[in-house]
Amino acid sequence: MFKYCRRSHFIELEKKSVRIQILGTAAAEGWPAVFCACETCERARHAGEKNIRTRQSVQIDEVYKIDLPPDTHYQQFRFALRLSRLKHLFVTHSHEDHLAINELHYLRPPFAHNLENPPIKVYGNPTVIQLIEALLAKAQLPLETVSLEPFKPVQADHLTVFPVPGSHISTEMCLTYVVCSNGGTVLFAWDTGMYSDTSLSFLQNFRFDAVIAECTQGTLDMPSTSHMGLRGVISLRDSLAHSGAVDSNTRFVLTHFSHNIGLLHEELVEITAPYGMEVAWDGMVLEIGPNT
Ligand SMILES: [Zn+2]
Ligand SMILES: [Zn+2]
Ligand SMILES: [Zn+2]
Repeated sequence: MFKYCRRSHFIELEKKSVRIQILGTAAAEGWPAVFCACETCERARHAGEKNIRTRQSVQIDEVYKIDLPPDTHYQQFRFALRLSRLKHLFVTHSHEDHLAINELHYLRPPFAHNLENPPIKVYGNPTVIQLIEALLAKAQLPLETVSLEPFKPVQADHLTVFPVPGSHISTEMCLTYVVCSNGGTVLFAWDTGMYSDTSLSFLQNFRFDAVIAECTQGTLDMPSTSHMGLRGVISLRDSLAHSGAVDSNTRFVLTHFSHNIGLLHEELVEITAPYGMEVAWDGMVLEIGPNT
């Protein structure tokens, strides 16, 4: 079987690294959760720093973003983002912690001026695209929709992006993304439980420089079909290692944590480090490129 996104596919282009910044690393309720006074949220409030987690999103270079959480306003000033330059927005699914759709109203004057790359392309599953198109029917916004089909790549400037269905909810096809550049290949996998055999076989065709995977349930041993815990992530890595899709050079970064796991950042680091995994925090930067 041929391998996708080998770096040689991009050989004619100058090799360029990609900057990935993980803007938010919490599950839907945030952490400390909005209305929660559980012991873990109280400990996180007290400890601050890497224990303060906003909702999941990733920025890739200046023009690409995955998901639009309700914390986007806070994230753009906390990390000095220039979202006026946004060109490509990939959405995983329609849950509100990943698509705070009302924020898109602020893309037009008098709320926003001097956008640099309109129209912004919004990529998503049919449910997401329907929601965006319903919005466009009511308001003139600088958006263009691109409906994705499973496993069918799209070219977004210098990135090739493969949508890979995760296992999350029965009412819509939640998408995880494989993002390839001439600098390397990264899997972004959140809001998914264990992948179906079809998705897993597809992923085995790549060679990943980094996997950013959800670990919503931490070390909790509760069976779930919609999210993963540490045991699930280890099993995902083992399956991918089996085909050579990941190896000891692949960075495995965990994200999308629920406060219910009861572990602060450093405690998570201690537990996951022996497995060679890293724990993401809000603001973490990964440079994926020819030298990584
Ligand atoms: Zn989520
Ligand atoms: Zn809590
Ligand atoms: Zn979700």
